[in-house]
Amino acid sequence: MKQLMADYYYELDSAAKDKNKKVAWCTSVGPAEILRCLGFYVYFPENHGAMLGASRMATDLIPYANAIGYSPEVCSYLTSDIGAFLKKVTPLSKVYEGIKSIPRPDIVVFNTNQCRDVQDWMRFFSKEFKVPLLGIHTYTGINEVTETHVQSIAQQMKEMVEYLEKISGNTFDKRELQKVLTLSRECSDLWKKVLDTASNIPSPLTFFDGTIHMGPAVVLRGTQQAVDYYKLLLAELEQRIKDNEGAVEDERFRLYWDGMPIWGRLKSHSELFARKKACIVASTYCNSWIFTGFDASYPFMSMARAYTELFIVRADEAKERYLKEMMDFFKVDGIIYHDSKSCPNNTNSRYGMPQRLEDETGIPSLVIYGDLNDLRCLSDEQFITNVEAFIEQLEEKNE
Ligand code: SF4
Repeated sequence: MKQLMADYYYELDSAAKDKNKKVAWCTSVGPAEILRCLGFYVYFPENHGAMLGASRMATDLIPYANAIGYSPEVCSYLTSDIGAFLKKVTPLSKVYEGIKSIPRPDIVVFNTNQCRDVQDWMRFFSKEFKVPLLGIHTYTGINEVTETHVQSIAQQMKEMVEYLEKISGNTFDKRELQKVLTLSRECSDLWKKVLDTASNIPSPLTFFDGTIHMGPAVVLRGTQQAVDYYKLLLAELEQRIKDNEGAVEDERFRLYWDGMPIWGRLKSHSELFARKKACIVASTYCNSWIFTGFDASYPFMSMARAYTELFIVRADEAKERYLKEMMDFFKVDGIIYHDSKSCPNNTNSRYGMPQRLEDETGIPSLVIYGDLNDLRCLSDEQFITNVEAFIEQLEEKNE
């Protein structure tokens, strides 16, 4: 894993310094496959945002973005990433010797299917680097995905191609896109299988493991390296199942996590749950890089469908149907909703969902308040107290 991610970042760094190579920045599910098939080296700012959070650099950097007009209320990936740019720092330099900065883009591409923040975030960088900005503007709050949704988004993707050809200097080749999409689909299917191993009792992996292992699915989907990585990981997890080896020793409780991770606390939270013999077996977040809709025979239509079927794009009814399926499949005893201060888009506890689902399923829930990157929004004491009380509640229920 370390080698794979290092190779990826060193390759990007050298591409950004080579006039003959082109770098595209792309939001998490933007049409990365189109960029890759045109020969772009693809950089994902959200991965950098998560690194800023996990390295705990984010909280100190956010105020620099606030000072130039980005509110502390908006996405803390955005504010910490812009803050890091203004302060000319990056966790990449700490992890990868010789890398001095984020890779300079030749074009910046976003997809608003997750939120509007990505558009504002990418607009900032497009202006700073004086490079073009391209975007897909999608529907949100969708209950059933229809042909109208899919066709409109597929059309926007097609319209991008001519422009991207000019920047990349390469001609679009449908077969190349099909090849990339086939690899993306394979990566996605393997990633799903990896996550699904957690339905075993005991689970061979936790949500916290998933947030680390999802790296290749985010930044390398569409490549053979990502496929090979997940084949290896899946074999290891299957072996752990055969050996009855759980990720949490003596697993007693199985939980589901909805919402963003709290990047700066992954280790301490993972240890807290392990001490309580509770395994967070699955999450909406890690599942967001599963694209079962990809079909290389219909590349644009199937990408449009897969990216629109994502959980974050959907209405509460569709989200609730999905969560019920997940709770059932992973055999969970409880669900934790993270109310993430600066990401209302990936927070599902503010309009009665926990209560509705608890009434329907009888599965208890807990809402915790924090943030993906801004640790000032999290009270560690309250988090621990609330989690401990929730586990006690589960214990009583089991007695
Ligand atoms: S979905 Fe949330 S965390 Fe992701 S970019 Fe949008 S606001 Fe930020």
